[in-house]
Amino acid sequence: MSTNRPFALPGWALALFYGALVALPLVLAAISDVPPGNAWQEAAAGAGIAGAVMMLLQLVSSGRFRILSERIGIDTTMGFHRWAAPLALALAALHVLALAGPIDLSDPMRSLTRLWRMLNAPGLRDGVIALGLALAMVPLAIWRERLPLPYEAFRALHAAMALGVVGFTLKHILERGSYAFETPSRVFWIALGAGVVLPMLAVYLRHLVDLYRYGWRVAELRPRATRLWELVLESGSGQALRFRAGQFGWLAAVQKRWPIWFDHPFSIASSPRDGRRLRLLIAEAGDFTGKIGTLPIGRRVGFDGPHGNFTADHLQGAEALVMVAGGVGIAPMLGILEDLAERGEKRPVRLIYAARNAEALLDPALLDPPLKALGARAIMLADNPAGREDLRHGPVSEAHLSEALEGLDPARCGALICGPGGMTTAAADGLHALGVPLDLIHYERFDYDEKAGAQKDRQILRRFRLIGAAVLVLAVVFTLR
Ligand SMILES: Cc1cc2nc3c(=O)[nH]c(=O)nc-3n(C[C@H](O)[C@H](O)[C@H](O)COP(=O)(O)OP(=O)(O)OC[C@H]3O[C@@H](n4cnc5c(N)ncnc54)[C@H](O)[C@@H]3O)c2cc1C
Repeated sequence: MSTNRPFALPGWALALFYGALVALPLVLAAISDVPPGNAWQEAAAGAGIAGAVMMLLQLVSSGRFRILSERIGIDTTMGFHRWAAPLALALAALHVLALAGPIDLSDPMRSLTRLWRMLNAPGLRDGVIALGLALAMVPLAIWRERLPLPYEAFRALHAAMALGVVGFTLKHILERGSYAFETPSRVFWIALGAGVVLPMLAVYLRHLVDLYRYGWRVAELRPRATRLWELVLESGSGQALRFRAGQFGWLAAVQKRWPIWFDHPFSIASSPRDGRRLRLLIAEAGDFTGKIGTLPIGRRVGFDGPHGNFTADHLQGAEALVMVAGGVGIAPMLGILEDLAERGEKRPVRLIYAARNAEALLDPALLDPPLKALGARAIMLADNPAGREDLRHGPVSEAHLSEALEGLDPARCGALICGPGGMTTAAADGLHALGVPLDLIHYERFDYDEKAGAQKDRQILRRFRLIGAAVLVLAVVFTLR
């Protein structure tokens, strides 16, 4: 089976492209025939243009585009999406404040009144609505867990508000932007608007097309541990999905008639050898997964994939593989282990697998065959082993990581980690402290809200900050030109 590697840009190219997209409208404005205004007006234009590009680009960094996430991974994609939102909003707020002009310190009320009048001016209503929507989106996303809102409702609301922000921002720019009356700038904004909205709509169109192309149906469904289900999907059309072991897809399975809306991400827990049958391992976690065990055999489902880059491909230069899985983080690992076994992997493979208790560990009937075929050493942990002598006490500790590296040169080992946030951070930092190079440590978090505090996350954050600094520099240079 050939692997499916679509064209996808590396991180540095994406960063350059992002910077170029912010720079382009600033350059078009700077070289236009429009005479520059005073320093405040130019600062407002610089911040407004940079902030608007960032706002619009938020639509494509929302994790559904393979061209973005295939190389840099879903964690980094979503991390950037969340990181960039407050910066875009701050630039939009700066745009408003600069437009209102300098604060009169001797009479601050006068400045506030001027700001209030400006916000109420009928001609600026679109911009104010865009800013209001964007302002409301940030706390909604940050405090989502605390709101009495199902995730599906949050996502629908988030998407509708995002489209609103894009629509009102564009209308505001095209009708009020001092530089947007010139044709090159107009063309840029219309093209950028279409460039971010159309791919979003295409995602749902692809879902619909895939529904008929593959015709996925529930072929098998059985419990494989406490509150953990094995769901096997079969392609009704006989067409195979091409993917790489460890990737994930978006499963939509609730509605009978339109099984494409409200999808959830799940790793493919089988090898790519037969892409007409996909195994998923699904842990009961909430509304959707809690009902997974009631799916009738034969039910038609939507599956949009493959996505993500959590694969062993990054570790081709490593001489040995260490895999650390926590809870349902075993799902992509199982697919990777099966794939390695089928390819006759000769490098040493070590697995640390931790669960809450013995009953929560995946059925050995699934895990043992690839481990045996690979001659892999497995360290099985449970927070509560309850008398099972083959299990060690969790959580994953430095001692377990050292044991997994026994007899190996850590500097030549590659690591794959998937599990709860705390475990992922501890395992990634622990392995790095024991000598595994950061570049050879890869992980995927199943929860975008988990705190990303590992050393590698900080390295990625530094790169985000560089992009943010570049955007600010561009806006400042435009203002001071
Ligand atoms: C890349 C990736 C791969 C995953 N692979 C697996 C897997 O193989 N097996 C498995 O059991 N779980 C996996 N998950 C987690 C799984 O997607 C969530 O547990 C599931 O969506 C929860 O939905 P729910 O309605 O049952 O629970 P809810 O109570 O609605 O959600 C619980 C939490 O799951 C997250 N979540 C819910 N819906 C979505 C969504 N549509 N998109 C993103 N996050 C969502 C949210 O953080 C939410 O707070 C994966 C997640 C990601 C991001």
